[in-house]
Amino acid sequence: MSKAGVAIIGLGIMGSGMAGRLLSAGFPLTVYNRNHDKSAPFGRAGASVAGSPREAASKADIIISMVADDIASSGVWLGDNGALAGASRGSVLIECSTLTVGWIKELAAAAAQRGCELLDAPVTGTKPDAASGELSFLIGGSEATLVTAKPVLSVLGREFIHLGPTGSGALMKLINNFMCGVQAASLAEAESMIAAGGLDLEKALSILTHGAPGSGLVQRAAARAFANDFTPNFPLHLMAKDLGYAIDEASHLGHKLQTASSALAIFKDAIAKGYGDQDFSAVIKSQQRG
Ligand code: NAP
Repeated sequence: MSKAGVAIIGLGIMGSGMAGRLLSAGFPLTVYNRNHDKSAPFGRAGASVAGSPREAASKADIIISMVADDIASSGVWLGDNGALAGASRGSVLIECSTLTVGWIKELAAAAAQRGCELLDAPVTGTKPDAASGELSFLIGGSEATLVTAKPVLSVLGREFIHLGPTGSGALMKLINNFMCGVQAASLAEAESMIAAGGLDLEKALSILTHGAPGSGLVQRAAARAFANDFTPNFPLHLMAKDLGYAIDEASHLGHKLQTASSALAIFKDAIAKGYGDQDFSAVIKSQQRG
């Protein structure tokens, strides 16, 4: 059976890894990125390079977006020369970015008007998982559309959790990332307290990472901070974005995320100190004195 044509819009840290996987698996791939320089290596590797999201969508049956935030997603789908205008009736749109539930629902309605189906399918996992096809997808939308998308998603991930109707994947992802942001912020405060109290950092981190607080995220963030390596796998400003979206989403549901609000203040402070484009684990460095 011939493989579906796929478009990837957004070739950042995550989208570039996903595009590489699809090319390696032999899918006919079209790529688009706002900064065209990032598309060139994929063109050399055999992808078709589109000059607009609309052109990318016109060449694909399955159109994937992996961009920064609601503003970027809205621009690439519905902006001038947006992907939706180029999508054929019956195409499947997969929005993998971490976005608000409200925007996902708007996008799904616009897709339906055009005769297309949308899956919200944000991911857990980071740069190496995108490059090796080991992402986990948190999915909202119809099960039938997921079946159509599965041959493509299977190249990108190892786990596909269908959570319910449109917006369910987006909501779950915000809940997931608010907890990640809170854990990273608490580790930043812990390290600052370790330093202030004159404790041995290596011993203290070993206790925290091997003990009850040592989640996978805390372990990875502590290791990055100890190695003083903040090359971005997940840029810090995107974690702040997710905390803000989670706080707003909770408020729409009549809830108050107090820990997320405290964590967001710490992330905003890190951004003000110039750490926004570094890995989110740089929040730890941002809270150190001197
Ligand atoms: P990234 O490396 O910063 O890439 C962001 C992408 O969005 C780039 O392609 C960028 O284009 C594009 N973009 C930004 N603003 C735009 C706009 N206004 N119009 C059009 N395109 C725009 O980010 P990433 O780490 O790949 O993350 C992508 C998404 O995945 C985000 O929603 C993030 O929260 C989510 N996510 C990330 C990770 C991770 O570990 N990195 C894990 C799970 C989920 P340019 O190249 O032109 O700037």
